[in-house]
Amino acid sequence: MKSIGISLLLALLLAPERTRLRPGFNLFSAQQDVEIGKQVSQDAEKKLRIINDSQVGSYITTLGRRLAARAPGEHYPYQFKVVNDKAINAFALPGGFLYINRGIFDNADNEAQLAGVMAHEISHVVLRHGTNQMSKAYAAQAPLAVLGGVLGNNSIGGVLAQTGASFAANSVLLRFSRDAERQADLMGTQILYDSGYNPRAMAQFFEKIEAESGSRGSQFFSDHPNPGNRISSVNQEIAKLGGANRPKNDSTDFQRIKRILKSK
Ligand code: ZN
Repeated sequence: MKSIGISLLLALLLAPERTRLRPGFNLFSAQQDVEIGKQVSQDAEKKLRIINDSQVGSYITTLGRRLAARAPGEHYPYQFKVVNDKAINAFALPGGFLYINRGIFDNADNEAQLAGVMAHEISHVVLRHGTNQMSKAYAAQAPLAVLGGVLGNNSIGGVLAQTGASFAANSVLLRFSRDAERQADLMGTQILYDSGYNPRAMAQFFEKIEAESGSRGSQFFSDHPNPGNRISSVNQEIAKLGGANRPKNDSTDFQRIKRILKSK
């Protein structure tokens, strides 16, 4: 008995810890992330076709909140919406405004894969990648304003305009660096694991859509470039977390929502 206890203790001491991830350089407060996200989301929703179906809405909100509850760091007032667009894509604005195209539902085999995409997007919010990129752009353009006071005399709207942060292709808010992608992959995997989902599902889904559509064929990869060695770095993280033991892959709710969306 005693030796089992000691070897267990040794195993715990020797097990590598999960990768710790924190937001990088940022000129904004977390509250300003929410203001920026809200402002850009109002513009986005004029251009996107949001699916207004109560069953779809309650499903995506329940799933999103369950995942967000497992995310570390600042807690944002998340909002989850499904967009009537068959392109395989999803995006998150600062402060927690998430949009998931129906194309993700059409192509995901199970709930864990959808949860993987959402956990990856939630990680971009938690790690504040959008306003990190905005901060870098702003500091490069207006170094004196930055020195004079965080945003100088600029309003949020002024800073958005100055840095080209909007809901548009190539916006600094929506196209992430490979390093940001690597971080969102690792944190997304941690969130999946902590929520009881198969932690391999996120990377499996990205591999699947990349194999089917090619890395340039899917809009998802122009916004979220493949950081390289995705599967192996995710697998290393899963080993640090303790492996994929009895993970949840699917739900009858997911398959029901998938059928509802097919009929739309
Ligand atoms: Zn990403």
